[in-house]
Amino acid sequence: MKCSICGNKNFKKFRYDFHTNKFNLKKLIKFFLIKIDFFIPNKLIKLKSISSRNRYGFSGFVNVCTDCGYGILDTIPTEKKLIKYYNLEYWNKRDSTVPKFKKLYKKNLRGLSQSLFSLEIIKKLKSNNLNFLDIGAAGAWAILNIRDKITEKTINLHTVEAGQVWGSYYQEAKINKVSDFFPFKSKIKYDYIHTSHWLEHVREIKSTLNWFRNNINKGGFIFVEVPNTEFNYWDRDIDDTPHIHFFTRKSLEKLFKNYNFEIVKMDVLGPSYLELNSKQPIHHNINPTGVYLRAIFKSK
Ligand SMILES: [Zn+2]
Repeated sequence: MKCSICGNKNFKKFRYDFHTNKFNLKKLIKFFLIKIDFFIPNKLIKLKSISSRNRYGFSGFVNVCTDCGYGILDTIPTEKKLIKYYNLEYWNKRDSTVPKFKKLYKKNLRGLSQSLFSLEIIKKLKSNNLNFLDIGAAGAWAILNIRDKITEKTINLHTVEAGQVWGSYYQEAKINKVSDFFPFKSKIKYDYIHTSHWLEHVREIKSTLNWFRNNINKGGFIFVEVPNTEFNYWDRDIDDTPHIHFFTRKSLEKLFKNYNFEIVKMDVLGPSYLELNSKQPIHHNINPTGVYLRAIFKSK
């Protein structure tokens, strides 16, 4: 086995969701719920979200490269299982969090913070008619805020989103949904691709990067925000199903470099895992041990 990002042959193995061997009651209850999944009715949404995870394949081990720090699930769920999961489970659990449009994106703190991160860089794009794509967009909060701030150009917003609950929201926001799932065959090339907490969910990292390569205009930008697994992540039991890939600064930069993208900017931000575990509020300020990695890459 070789690291698909840096080629290194040495790995460390961790059990997904339960990184340490420390025993505690919460862990025991989770193991137990997974065992009795069959008996738990669907309407107990919170319990079901814990008990059903193995059914979709989000279990087993993660192999973590000892050089660049990139981690990947040992056994990746089949495409069929993933589609089923995102169709049946993911948005069902989150249905109540879907806002009615009414310009609520203006108050979405993550979207606002991401839009400010990208704004000055996007302004460098020369064309007056720009196509933006948000993959795994949900409320497309960041690109909506960006469109508001660049009034001198036409910005066409496109999304890929499996959650059907966003239909009327997109209509009101004048967003063109191009596909339920990624990858899809695109008729146009994009100037800016926004992916927020999405890349860690894809099945295949190589074909994803190839898709970016083939569907972005020369000089275009790709925004990526993913969980940062560089600091303390593997020292604690962190429950973040359904992730498949695990990134560090080094691995994320190298991955894009391998596909001829240059790094424009990268920040580490947010609370630390320690603060998250002790229920401290989420923020998006720069923090050297933060749980988020945010970057922009430019297509050469
Ligand atoms: Zn590596």
